Amino acid sequence: MAVKKFTSLLHHLNNAEDGRRWLYVPYDQVSDKIGPLAREEPEKLGIILVENPWKAARRPYHKQKLGLILANLRHFALEQARRGVAVRHVVTNGPYHLALETLSRELGQITMMEAAERELRIDLEGLTTGGAIKVIPHEGWLTKAADMEAAKSKDGSYRMDSFYRAVRQRTGILMEAGKPEGGKYSFDSENRQAWTGQPEAPAIPTFEIDEITEEVGDLINKHFAHHPGTLDLSKIPATAKDALTLWQWARENCLTYFGPFEDAMSSRSNSLFHTRISAALNICRLLPAQVVTDTLELDIPLACKEGFIRQIIGWREFVHKIHRATDGFRQQTNETAEEPGDANYKAWAKKSWHQQVDLKKNKQNVEPDGGALCSFLGSRNDLPQAYWGQQSGLNCLDTVIKTVWDEGYSHHITRLMVLSNIANLLDISPRQLTDWFWLAYTDAYDWVVEPNVMAMGTYGVGGLMTTKPYISGAAYINKMSDYCRGCRYDPAKNCPITRLYWAFLERHNDKLSGNQRLAMPLNSLKKRSLKDKSIDKAVFEKTLQILNDGQILPVDIVSQ
Ligand SMILES: Cc1cc2nc3c(=O)[nH]c(=O)nc-3n(C[C@H](O)[C@H](O)[C@H](O)COP(=O)(O)OP(=O)(O)OC[C@H]3O[C@@H](n4cnc5c(N)ncnc54)[C@H](O)[C@@H]3O)c2cc1C
Repeated sequence: MAVKKFTSLLHHLNNAEDGRRWLYVPYDQVSDKIGPLAREEPEKLGIILVENPWKAARRPYHKQKLGLILANLRHFALEQARRGVAVRHVVTNGPYHLALETLSRELGQITMMEAAERELRIDLEGLTTGGAIKVIPHEGWLTKAADMEAAKSKDGSYRMDSFYRAVRQRTGILMEAGKPEGGKYSFDSENRQAWTGQPEAPAIPTFEIDEITEEVGDLINKHFAHHPGTLDLSKIPATAKDALTLWQWARENCLTYFGPFEDAMSSRSNSLFHTRISAALNICRLLPAQVVTDTLELDIPLACKEGFIRQIIGWREFVHKIHRATDGFRQQTNETAEEPGDANYKAWAKKSWHQQVDLKKNKQNVEPDGGALCSFLGSRNDLPQAYWGQQSGLNCLDTVIKTVWDEGYSHHITRLMVLSNIANLLDISPRQLTDWFWLAYTDAYDWVVEPNVMAMGTYGVGGLMTTKPYISGAAYINKMSDYCRGCRYDPAKNCPITRLYWAFLERHNDKLSGNQRLAMPLNSLKKRSLKDKSIDKAVFEKTLQILNDGQILPVDIVSQ
C-alpha cells in the first residue's frame, strides 16, 4: 500500500516506545475522549492501529466508506503521536488476530475497549480468552445491558419505546420531577410533515482535503478501484476537528427543524434536516454523550429536541443492545451464511465478488461467518440490479439509489420507506438486503445494520423488535416526498408500488393476519376484487422478472 506521506509524517512525529502500556484501538474507536487515552498520560501509552485490506475485501464496500475509515485511522495516528502517544501503525492482510498475536508477543499484554462489531470480537476471541488481549468495557455507550430488561416483553419481544422510557427515567434526561418534559415521552406524532421547500434545506458540509486524505484517495483509486461508489474526499470528515465542524453544522442548521420534517423525503435534498453524524458517531469521532449534552443546551422546540435525543439514547442504543442480546439474531435461527454476502453484486457486475477476492486464502478460522439467515416471511428473492445503480423506472427508487452510490448515505425514511419497502414488496432476501446496506452505507457495521435491516426494515425476525412490517403503497411516498412528481407513474393510478403492496399483503396474509396494526389494510384486502388481486399478482411477477433482468419497468406495466 502507498503510505509514503503518512508514514514519513508519522515517523517524524512518533514517540519512543519504551515502558509503555499498549492499547489496541480498532478502526471504529478513534477517540481520545473515552477509555485509557482519555485518562492516562499520553507519554505512558502506546496504541496499535491496524490497516487491513483483507477486511476491506470481505465485501464490495463503497469507496467512500473505505475512504472514511482509512482517512480517520491515519489522522488519528498522527493526532495521537502529536499528543505524545507512541503509535504502532501496521498493515496486515488477514484476520486481525494474526497481527495482534505477533504484536502481543513483542509488546506484552494489549488492552482494548470491547469491540462494537461482533465480527471483530469473534476474530479476536482466541486472544481475548487466552489473555494476550485484555478487554475493558467500551465507554462509548450510554446504556447498559440491564436497560434491556425494561424493553423485554413477556412474549420475548423487545420494544424501543419501553427501553427509551426506562433510559430517560434512569438518566433523568428530559425529565422534570420524575415526569417527562412537556408531559409525554415522545412527540413523534407532531413530527410528520412533508417538506415543500421551506425552510430551505442546508447545503451539506465539506471539509479540507489535506495531503493525508489525498494520499488515502490515491490509495483507494489504485488498490480499491474495483469497489463500487463515488469517492468524494471533500465530504469525508477525516479529523477530530472535522467531526466537530460537522456537529456544529448540524446544531446550527438541522436541529431546529429536525422534528417536523423527520419523515419527509425530497429529490432536492438528500438529508433535509437530518444531521449526517451517524458515520462519525459509529467510529467514535463524535460521542453520544457529547451529542446529547450539547443538544439539551440548544434553544430549539421541545419536539425537535426530544425527537433527536430519542434517536441517540433510544434507537441507536437499543439496536446495539438487541444485537448483543440476540448474538446478531443467531438466537432466532440455526442458519448462518458461510461467508460475507455480496448482495447479488454478480448480477450487476457480471462477476462474483469473491471470484475477484479470494477470502478463503486468508481464512484461517471459520468465523466470522456471513451472518444470520433470518426470513420470517420466507422471502428469498435476489436483490435487483436497480440497487446497484441500474435504472428501474421508479423515480423514488432510482433517486435514492443514486444518492447512496454518490455519497454512501441517505436518511432514515428513504432507507425504510423506499429501499426496504420496495425490497419487502418484492420478497427480497433480508440477508441480501442487509448485506447491501452494510456495504453501501458509510455508517454500517454489523451491530447497527443487522437490527435496522433484518429486524426493522424487512421484518426478517418477525415481531422481535417491531410490531409490523414497514410497507406502503405509492400514496405514502407521494404524501411524504416529491419523488412522484418526477416519475413516469401516477401514484393515484398506475404506480406498480401500490399493486405490489396489495400483492404482498395477499401473499403473506396467513403470517400477518392477527396482527392488530395491520387489521385495517388486511380488512381492505378482503374487499379487493378477484380481478384486482389477479392484476396485483401479475404486476408483482412481471416487476420481479424485469428488475431481475436489469431492465426498466414499462410505463403500462399495470395495464398490460
Ligand atoms: C433499513 C435501515 C438501515 C439502517 N442502517 C443503518 C446503519 O447501517 N448505520 C446506522 O448508523 N444507522 C442505520 N440506520 C438508522 C438511521 O437510518 C441512520 O442512523 C440515520 O439515517 C443516519 O443519518 P443521520 O446521521 O442524518 O441521522 P439523524 O436522523 O440526524 O439521526 C441522528 C442519529 O441518531 C442515530 N439513529 C437514529 N436512528 C437510528 C437507528 N435506527 N439505529 C441506529 N442509530 C440511529 C444515528 O446515530 C443518527 O446519526 C438504518 C435505518 C434503516 C431503516
